[in-house]
Amino acid sequence: MFAVTPLTWCPHLTEVRPVPSGGLDSQAPCNTCGDLSENWVCLTCYTVECSRFVNEHMLFHRLETEHNMVLSYSDISVWCYACDSYVDNPVLLEAKNAAHLSKFGEPLPGMG
Ligand SMILES: [Zn+2]
Ligand SMILES: [Zn+2]
Ligand SMILES: [Zn+2]
Repeated sequence: MFAVTPLTWCPHLTEVRPVPSGGLDSQAPCNTCGDLSENWVCLTCYTVECSRFVNEHMLFHRLETEHNMVLSYSDISVWCYACDSYVDNPVLLEAKNAAHLSKFGEPLPGMG
């Protein structure tokens, strides 16, 4: 493991849309291949696709749609494809909180 310092801001934060009213489902399968092991959710259209360690469907989603901001259901971190970096910004808290709530049954620490 190596230390990853997320960006505190990136120009693609404007692509992030509000979380759907039904919240997020951290158990949702990949929209393309149905894999359940390691999925990401797009923060622009909220489609769920698998990671580059499975079948790379989120990468394909990014190439097709140019949606850059994606949230990992594995560790609730947000990746920006365009910046090739993790991003941590208050704009992302709503989605991170919804993912945490789905995965752990409780909100992010400090968000209760
Ligand atoms: Zn997949
Ligand atoms: Zn998308
Ligand atoms: Zn970015």
